[in-house]
Amino acid sequence: MSEKLSFVNPTPTSPWGTYLQQVDRVMPYLGDLAKWAETLKRPKRALIVDVPIEMDDGRIAHYEGYRVQHNMSRGPGKGGVRFHPDVTLEEVMALSAWMTVKTAAVNLPYGGAKGGIRVDPKKLSLKELEKVTRRYTSEIGIIIGPHTDIPAPDVNTNGQIMAWMMDTYSMNTGGTATGVVTGKPLHLGGSLGRVKATGRGVFVTGREAARRLGLDLRGARIAVQGFGNVGSVAAELFVEAGAKIVAVQDHTGTIVNEKGLDLAELVPVSRTPAGAVSFKGGDVVPNEAFWDVACDILIPAALEGQITAARAKKTTAKLVLEGANGPTVPEADDILAERGVLVVPDVICNAGGVTVSYFEWVQDFSSFFWDEDEINVRLDRIMMNALNQIWDTADKHKISLRTATYAVACERILMARQERGLYP
Ligand code: NAD
Repeated sequence: MSEKLSFVNPTPTSPWGTYLQQVDRVMPYLGDLAKWAETLKRPKRALIVDVPIEMDDGRIAHYEGYRVQHNMSRGPGKGGVRFHPDVTLEEVMALSAWMTVKTAAVNLPYGGAKGGIRVDPKKLSLKELEKVTRRYTSEIGIIIGPHTDIPAPDVNTNGQIMAWMMDTYSMNTGGTATGVVTGKPLHLGGSLGRVKATGRGVFVTGREAARRLGLDLRGARIAVQGFGNVGSVAAELFVEAGAKIVAVQDHTGTIVNEKGLDLAELVPVSRTPAGAVSFKGGDVVPNEAFWDVACDILIPAALEGQITAARAKKTTAKLVLEGANGPTVPEADDILAERGVLVVPDVICNAGGVTVSYFEWVQDFSSFFWDEDEINVRLDRIMMNALNQIWDTADKHKISLRTATYAVACERILMARQERGLYP
């Protein structure tokens, strides 16, 4: 990080700049706790690591990795690990901060953390991917642990990568520490329902928002950007509820079909290297045309900063469900509000994943595992309780759901900060 710390002076549309503006907007609602609010604007701890590996062809490659622990006032750090060629420290800082807000919004006993490696995993062999994962885990091993900071999957990471992380940490510490990561395979202490949990949470919060808007899901047209773990699962659940998916965009491009894309065929095709655009049941259109597709619900479920001011002006959606973290820049947030478009913000909309990660962690410690119905019932209850409380706060102060979520969450975080006091 440069002398001019990027966490105090970022570009406004960068993920960290977006997060800082979101915090500023909640200040008037924090009362006396506002005196502690600066703590939200700085990560507690940020670790940058070198990840050197020997490639299959004998070359030595170096990748840059990060683990940021934004806030641990309410409990251990919690947050995913992203493998992507565009990962930066500043992006990971923002993602870690959104985890702090998210875990507090749904009242889980965690703080917020996030990790990442600047690497394109699609260019690595399986062996190289395993080496990158293990060396990264070993490097961040000095700050993670079942009681300190618990990673999980994010973009381009999955159960296999969590298994390697758990094994590496366990080898280095001499036991089998299943609780050090969540999102693990089932026979390694994983939880039923975890893979689909984030998409399910998007659906549960989206269904409630649609009900409150008077928007019938039967026949509703939905556009989904990002068709991985979050976007595809949410899409499937909305289709089960009678909606149709009229547009899908992934890293390979955009396909549209106003009659509705056939997900039973699209999902497996989208998992192949050729991606969604190789699906024959829709028309391939230029990526920017995705934002012009006539739809009732828009689900950004890819990366940050996707809903810009220009795109906010032209979307026909009445409801935006933020499956991704940080998909809407603040200026676009304002435009959507002026246009009467309801946004269910990331920090509640996609909290289903961390909620079932919490269930997984609890099950690992008790070595007693729940069935999937119990997971889903508890997940739905936590999501609905949190959403209803946020909605009441939004109505009371006449503020957006995003600012209301920050109000509920930041009060919990800063109250914990105040009660703990400053050490020394
Ligand atoms: P994933 O790797 O399973 O899927 C990512 C999807 O985004 C893929 O379909 C990919 O093709 C697409 N994509 C990548 N770059 C793109 C681009 N430039 N334009 C359009 N599409 C692009 O990841 P995921 O786990 O589904 O995560 C998606 C988002 O949801 C991220 O913002 C992540 O932080 C957030 N999220 C994930 C979880 C989780 O449990 N996995 C939980 C909360 C939030």
